[in-house]
Amino acid sequence: MIVVLRTDVSEPQINHVLERVQELGFEPRLIRGEFRTIVGLIGDDNKTAAGALEAIPGVEQVLRILKPFKMASREFHKEDSIVPVGKGKVRIGGGHLAMIAGPCAVESLEGLRAIAGHVKKAGANILRGGAFKPRTSPYAFQGMGEDGLKILRDVGDEVDMPVVTEVMDTRQVPLVEKWADMFQIGARNMQNFDLLKEVGQTRKPVLLKRGMSATVKDLLMSAEYVLAEGNPNVVLCERGVRSFEDSTRNMLDMSAVPNVKGQSHLPIIVDPSHATGRPDLIPSMAMASVAAKADGVHVEVHDCPEKAFSDGPQALLPPQFASLMDDLRKLATLLGRTID
Ligand code: PEP
Ligand code: MN
Repeated sequence: MIVVLRTDVSEPQINHVLERVQELGFEPRLIRGEFRTIVGLIGDDNKTAAGALEAIPGVEQVLRILKPFKMASREFHKEDSIVPVGKGKVRIGGGHLAMIAGPCAVESLEGLRAIAGHVKKAGANILRGGAFKPRTSPYAFQGMGEDGLKILRDVGDEVDMPVVTEVMDTRQVPLVEKWADMFQIGARNMQNFDLLKEVGQTRKPVLLKRGMSATVKDLLMSAEYVLAEGNPNVVLCERGVRSFEDSTRNMLDMSAVPNVKGQSHLPIIVDPSHATGRPDLIPSMAMASVAAKADGVHVEVHDCPEKAFSDGPQALLPPQFASLMDDLRKLATLLGRTID
């Protein structure tokens, strides 16, 4: 529920509303806007509580939200949210585009340094690289772990780019929080609720990827887990869903972008690399993402795909990425978007 307060509400009245909200079993979130103050209520909506709150002096209206996600909803927060990454060096949302690029996995200091140099020069603003890799086979490369995180941090600092990396387990949260600027929750973990709660306890931004068989509503409900813990910095990522089509790795649901934007204030970016798995399709799908008003793209780049430890076949070569960035910049300018 959302309690809309009168424009002339007094401070003692606001405090009384907050007390009553807690007595009724909800967790209040006070939001002071330029023109209005509202209180978001975390808890189960019910008619009795709505009636009780409506009777309090200073309350103008009580809105019951029928959507199961509250804090993620547009009703709760009308403006687009802008998520700062790397102490505000890069902003995502509200017209600011994230251009996240890098290899699937951190493989070595020299290797990452070379790729980071290329993507930075091309105009990417966030460096990616997995240190903990979710692999279908337990015998496949699992990532460099903490050594990989340190390399990612060092190289990010060298090229002056914030870094994002996947966290797969609650036990890894403190480590990833220490070394990275942004958590990535992968498709396979989108509904790992303990992990969502754990990153929700931090204040580091979270890149939440859509599960491969998750609906848009499931994705927003997962975002709600992070927001409900008090971390407002969530960026969603469409990365394709499983389908009958077998000529692409997944099926890119481009309509998820405007679909999410209609229902939520959270930024949403698109990952055409994991969505298509094909370098010949990635550039056009990246362009389509920005045209669909996504808040950025997430692209895997490798300077020697045949030697990559994971996802080599879908990596763009540095010159391909540079040419894509040239096109994305032109499109962004045309649409009045900025790339920090
Ligand atoms: C990745 O970004 O490397 C990754 C594993 O992505 P996803 O979780 O979308 O499969
Ligand atoms: Mn990958």
